[in-house]
Amino acid sequence: PRRIAYELHSGHVNTGVRIPLGLKPKSLRVLVTGGSGFVGSHLVDRLMARGDSVIVVDNFFTGRKENILHHLRNPRFELIRHDVVEPLLLEVDQIYHLACPASPVHYKYNPVKTIISFKAFFFTDHKTNVVGTLNMLGLAKRINARFLLTSTSEVYGDPLEHPQVETYWGNVNPIGVRSCYDEGKRVAETLTMDYHRGLNIEVRIARIFNTYGPRMCLDDGRVVSNFVAQALRKEPMTVYGDGKQTRSFQYVSDLVEGLMRLMEGEHVGPFNLGNPGEFTMLELAKVVQDTIDPNAKIEFRPNTEDDPHKRKPDITRAKELLGWQPMVPLHEGLPMMVSDFRQRIFSHHREGGN
Ligand code: NAD
Ligand code: UDP
Ligand code: UDP
Repeated sequence: PRRIAYELHSGHVNTGVRIPLGLKPKSLRVLVTGGSGFVGSHLVDRLMARGDSVIVVDNFFTGRKENILHHLRNPRFELIRHDVVEPLLLEVDQIYHLACPASPVHYKYNPVKTIISFKAFFFTDHKTNVVGTLNMLGLAKRINARFLLTSTSEVYGDPLEHPQVETYWGNVNPIGVRSCYDEGKRVAETLTMDYHRGLNIEVRIARIFNTYGPRMCLDDGRVVSNFVAQALRKEPMTVYGDGKQTRSFQYVSDLVEGLMRLMEGEHVGPFNLGNPGEFTMLELAKVVQDTIDPNAKIEFRPNTEDDPHKRKPDITRAKELLGWQPMVPLHEGLPMMVSDFRQRIFSHHREGGN
């Protein structure tokens, strides 16, 4: 019955069954860990709009209540403050497991707290990725739910193959400053596949490439949010290194569409979910200038350790098996993010409280 609910609901699969008019398909119960964060809250919007019952589990490490405030009065919505490093008991049909500290560059942005937050951050990364994922897989096993892991393009490390195909095993420094995140996600992928192979849990793995959009943390240190916030505040945009390193930037609505198709499709993955449009950081700065302020300045800063030189997804697999591809190019997505940032930066309410 769970599968039928998926199919009737999703619209992607033709079951051949005619649904009598007026008969509503069974609503799915969906858990979104990390659902008050940037990506999670956009996913929650889509699931709620589809008529699902949604439970968000979040410890508000980087997430914000504001992102999901508009659902709090809806009886189909439930918010639980909980750290996934601790066991969790509930009943759902699907688990989207997003909970994970976001950008591992927080510490650079907060020099005063560098040492303390550096340690706290990286420790949290490991624990959440390993113990948190294990707990959510244990939950999926007990209640026979389908489990989706949001992994990352960082599993490819500083890639020696370009663009990156899912069959590439990556080039990760296991003892570097970024490895808590990269290796943490690699372990999370391993656990997910082991639960699938060994215990027959239905799993899905997404490898997400750099994603941007409204509701991103203002000061989390990621490049798009940095440049946009800096240009709006009339501060110079900080380009690390020579700015010739590349990334491929995906608008958040494209990602959410890909995640939902992956969850409802028949394929385990891993699937690259990203926009193949590749930009150097200097090119990105230029797009931000064109969008916000042609006079915005650029300031060069030393680059960070182990920074991947290039990154671009090969999305052939997602195109063929999920019928998915990104629709929003950078010059269209950026203005939507800019209006959200403008409002948050210049509103009288200070941001940041949970
Ligand atoms: P985000 O920081 O906005 O969201 C993460 C959410 O998880 C936050 O709400 C945070 O409070 C919550 N969280 C963190 N640790 C937790 C814990 N132990 N228990 C419960 N909740 C916890 O980041 P995001 O960009 O929305 O990322 C969502 C997922 O997508 C993450 O797993 C991330 O690794 C993955 N991802 C994102 C990108 C990107 O470019 N945004 C790229 C690759 C992968
Ligand atoms: N777990 C959980 N919720 C559940 C079931 C399990 O949080 O509903 C946790 C459990 O505490 C354990 C982890 O998931 O730490 C792995 O569970 P599993 O049953 O796979 O392994 P075991 O408990 O047998 O080691
Ligand atoms: N970067 C930059 N200026 C910034 C923040 C980041 O030039 O203010 C660079 C960073 O060195 C990296 C790229 O932008 O080469 C993407 O960094 P981000 O942290 O956004 O994502 P990731 O490295 O995880 O892909």
